[in-house]
Amino acid sequence: MLFRQRCEACGDIARVLCVKCRTQLFAMAQPECDAAVVAVAYESIARRLILNLKYHNRKQVVVVLAELLAQRVLQSVPNIATVCDVVTWAPTSKARVRRRGLDQSELLARRLARVLDVPCRQLLIKTSTNVQTGASREERLRDSVFSARKLRVDSHVVIVDDVVTTGTTLRCAADALRKVGARQVTCVAVASAVRHDLRR
Ligand SMILES: [Zn+2]
Repeated sequence: MLFRQRCEACGDIARVLCVKCRTQLFAMAQPECDAAVVAVAYESIARRLILNLKYHNRKQVVVVLAELLAQRVLQSVPNIATVCDVVTWAPTSKARVRRRGLDQSELLARRLARVLDVPCRQLLIKTSTNVQTGASREERLRDSVFSARKLRVDSHVVIVDDVVTTGTTLRCAADALRKVGARQVTCVAVASAVRHDLRR
């Protein structure tokens, strides 16, 4: 059997991402987001790459997404590598990690930390993973709860997430870190799926 490397976005023969898709990805606009420094909107190539990573175990995509994230974070916070003490991630529930075989946010965090040359540590633990369909908004909010490991007082922590939807996850994660002594928390995410046309 002959396995050819395919572009993860369009399927052309290429290593990870073809030049055309790469150019298009890096040309995507950086969306405004209150919850985090976000690289791109969760659409087109960015969406395809994230879906391939999350649901098809395409770990090679992490390198490209982390490179994009690093570029955008450095544009927004140029001194991030010198001011931040540690990079961590908003963990996916254990059941999901078991099902998918990976925690995409952890992979992104580890790669971003390597690019920034900052240590990466697991600081957050998801204490509740109960996702019930039909649960009320308040119930779902209560479900995204984290506890944090002890931290050097006055640390500046960067939290990485793959996709921001409401910002609640990152807000809860940041609160947990502040409770254990983080002085500053910078939330970063590859993509924002925040929609402004949501009907209430
Ligand atoms: Zn392509």
